[in-house]
Amino acid sequence: MPELPEVEALKDFLTEHLVGRRVARVLPVAVSVLKTYDPPVTAFEGGEVTAVHRHGKFLDLAADSGLHLVTHLARAGWLQWKDRLPSGPPKPGKGPLALRVALETGEGFDLTEAGTQKRLAVYVVRDPQAVEGIARLGPDPLAADFDEDRLAALLRDERRRLKGALRDQSLIAGVGNAYSDEILHAAKMSPFKLADSLTPEEIHRLHEALRSTLVEAVERSRGVAAGRLKAEKKSGLRVHGRTGEPCPVCGDTIREVSFSDSSLQYCPTCQTGGKPLADRRLSRLLK
Ligand SMILES: [Zn+2]
Repeated sequence: MPELPEVEALKDFLTEHLVGRRVARVLPVAVSVLKTYDPPVTAFEGGEVTAVHRHGKFLDLAADSGLHLVTHLARAGWLQWKDRLPSGPPKPGKGPLALRVALETGEGFDLTEAGTQKRLAVYVVRDPQAVEGIARLGPDPLAADFDEDRLAALLRDERRRLKGALRDQSLIAGVGNAYSDEILHAAKMSPFKLADSLTPEEIHRLHEALRSTLVEAVERSRGVAAGRLKAEKKSGLRVHGRTGEPCPVCGDTIREVSFSDSSLQYCPTCQTGGKPLADRRLSRLLK
């Protein structure tokens, strides 16, 4: 799933490729991709793209008509740029194509979504704040005023585990399952540590890890073509998705905890004093 760094890179890529160009067609292909009907999706056609913004993990194309085409790529969604779109209309069906945006120049992009769970969402709105997911976003961790005090204030009353708190979009915008693992590894903290239990020194360490992990990932993704971002993201991850591999910091074996719909990865030596965390799924099986 694209998280803050990848969406930031997509924003840069689309700024370069879309701003100043006119949108010819917006073609929803998947049944449930479009989440709004007023204004209609066709109202976005004919407009010139004036800017591309990022709100958390949402991408927002602004047009001179005053309208915004907003998308959230969800877990299995991606954006594929095409220098030349096929001329015929896209066929609705079982393929991954969810929505196509064609420019007057014949270029454009496809929003695609793999798998059977269709969560990719597109909105046409007059104000991005009309998208509920954007309206409830917490502060952006790359914003200049996102300092240690801000992070401390956010976590002060959070009686839950750090892993869940970092992923909560209404608390901090843009961090998902992969980068929360990376941030906690860089901060040398257990994903199960309670968010409201952090000392000032730990807040300092977590803030440093949060900023450096995201800034590094943004730098790495910048200038990478849209089609290569997924591979770029994977290559930069130190623990996420690397169960069984050696930790690049200490060499210990990276472990995982599985949940019903996701899993987290961590290094016991770096993060939990060498102790493996209880894997609830595994312990259930053993009972
Ligand atoms: Zn380690």
